[in-house]
Amino acid sequence: MRTPIIAGNWKMYKTARQAAEMITNLRDLVQDVLDVEVVVCPPFTALQAAVEAAKGSRIAVGAQDCSWEKEGAFTGEVAVPMIADLGCSHVIVGHSERRQYFGETDATVGKKVGAVLAQGLSCIACVGETLAEREAGQTLAILERQVKDGLARHLASAKLVVAYEPVWAIGTGRTATPAQAQEVHAFIRQQVSRLGGPAAAEGLRILYGGSVKPDNVAALMSQPDVDGGLVGGASLEAASFAKIVRYRG
Ligand code: PEP
Repeated sequence: MRTPIIAGNWKMYKTARQAAEMITNLRDLVQDVLDVEVVVCPPFTALQAAVEAAKGSRIAVGAQDCSWEKEGAFTGEVAVPMIADLGCSHVIVGHSERRQYFGETDATVGKKVGAVLAQGLSCIACVGETLAEREAGQTLAILERQVKDGLARHLASAKLVVAYEPVWAIGTGRTATPAQAQEVHAFIRQQVSRLGGPAAAEGLRILYGGSVKPDNVAALMSQPDVDGGLVGGASLEAASFAKIVRYRG
């Protein structure tokens, strides 16, 4: 049995005070949901306040990115030990916005995944095709490459989580259908089995991301290979995020 994860990616939204306020509201709304892991990923500047606000609750706090180096002369970067030191337990790596706007590649994603897992944190590694790639019939080939080049060396770790996020569904209000999500999730699991063995594949949590909302989450979660959601816009408000966490009703 894979425990579902609902993770919120707040992107570049919320000050420290706003983050604390949101988590204070959220914790009451999800405290009794014992069978879903809940993660919020605020910007770096709000991580400490978020960890404080989440103390004693079931809400885990994660960062949205990290350096692959432990320390050094890398202006503007934030290392995984620094993130761990704040009390964070998760890091998102390889989000499509980082690939698109900040030049991340499968190789840099792979290095970051390794850095997160080496510190004992959970890593939510994002993969997914663009609209042009989907329309060109390249979806599965892109996913195969992203899994092989970015994740293959890390598949033995129980702390690796994969998020399938079709780029055309992120922030667009256009969600993959449950069948589309299931097709790709099953394919990713198959690739993981091929590269890392059946036990790694069976245990791996694969989240769907891309315009997940309170009204579509249950259908997505009903798919056998969908083990959770990575939620952007709908994770910014406690009420809508809590509805997603409570997708079973
Ligand atoms: C995301 O940021 O990972 C995401 C899926 O965003 P949204 O839910 O807003 O599409």
